[in-house]
Amino acid sequence: MIPSVLPTYNRAKLNFVKGEGSWLIEADGRRFLDLGSGIAVNALGHAHPALVQALTDQAQKLWHVSNLYEIPQQQALADKLVAATFADTVFFTNSGTESCELAVKMARKYWYDKGQPDRTDIIAFSGSFHGRSSAGIAAAGSEKMTKGFGPLLPGFVHLDWGDHDALHAAITDTTAAILIEPVQGEGGIRPLPDQCLKGLRALCDEKGILLILDEVQCGMGRTGRLFAHEWAGITPDIMMVAKGIGGGFPLGAVLATEDAASGMTAGTHGSTYGGNPLGCAVGCAVMDHVSDPAFLENVNRIAGHLRQKLEGLVAAHPDVFEGVRGSGLMIGLKCKVAPADVVQAGYAAQVITVPAADNVVRLLPPLNLTEDEVAEALTRLDAAASLAAKPA
Ligand SMILES: *Cc1c(COP(=O)(O)O)cnc(C)c1O
Repeated sequence: MIPSVLPTYNRAKLNFVKGEGSWLIEADGRRFLDLGSGIAVNALGHAHPALVQALTDQAQKLWHVSNLYEIPQQQALADKLVAATFADTVFFTNSGTESCELAVKMARKYWYDKGQPDRTDIIAFSGSFHGRSSAGIAAAGSEKMTKGFGPLLPGFVHLDWGDHDALHAAITDTTAAILIEPVQGEGGIRPLPDQCLKGLRALCDEKGILLILDEVQCGMGRTGRLFAHEWAGITPDIMMVAKGIGGGFPLGAVLATEDAASGMTAGTHGSTYGGNPLGCAVGCAVMDHVSDPAFLENVNRIAGHLRQKLEGLVAAHPDVFEGVRGSGLMIGLKCKVAPADVVQAGYAAQVITVPAADNVVRLLPPLNLTEDEVAEALTRLDAAASLAAKPA
């Protein structure tokens, strides 16, 4: 008999009833160190006092009004994002996949309004992930996500990561945009080298097409800059954001330049919940913390410290791990054993990690992880590695 919850997930037998900072507490009382943050969502850890305050204050006043009216919390968050980034304008969504939908629509409408309605193709890359909507799965293109769900949304061109010749050849007079994650998340924590991101920007400028960055996972301070593309010193035309921006409240956004957003006039797009007062009140509190230079400085310091310790862990378990990669607190442990076995062993050692493609276990801890918690993480990961090394 089908379970009452649609069984699209293979769930671990863990039932967390409370969260405190970097810790999750199981119903049986066990404390787990959370190095997954709900997949890069709980950017400030669990039950951060400033987020609890922002949410409860707003909850006493007003939960929801339609986007038919002004929403000051939404205006405030948009102003903060515009002040801190390349963007001139922001649309709020509830998730990364909805941000993908709008990014695709915006790019197509841009060319339609420029009198080039045939420019509808979006170039995307192998190993990418852009969400589970029809546009998201068509954008990523992997059979794992698309099989059985056809006909797929047309207009996506898929290229292998790092194939420069194919990329140049793929740009034609039907190309609207290039879509890429500065650091692939689900694909196995693969950072795009700064040189490549610079090259993509230059190529888009040369061909006059749009650059869309998916910073749903790598944005909001995750790599030690507010957004990952800042490391390369370039800016996109359109950027997808979600996950960390709500700190656990479902919130996403599409940021864009005035030019890229020029087709999105009144009536061209909408969302019932996107940018609602509760979500944006929390988003403002997250932004106030994460955009603070001192906060980002600390992310870099802790990330450097953790990275160094993880190199030691890999060296100590050469039969389990092959190497460490990533950027800031978006870290991948490349495994020689099945990543799922390492994650499973982590549950026994009371540490939460997340599997990814390309034989990688992901570490996406809260951005305010402390030095003591780094030490705790290493003790637990070491125990997990010892368990995973033993043949079952
Ligand atoms: C998680 C993710 C998405 C999809 O976000 P949802 O909120 O799950 O819809 C899109 N792109 C990237 C890079 C992601 O990591």
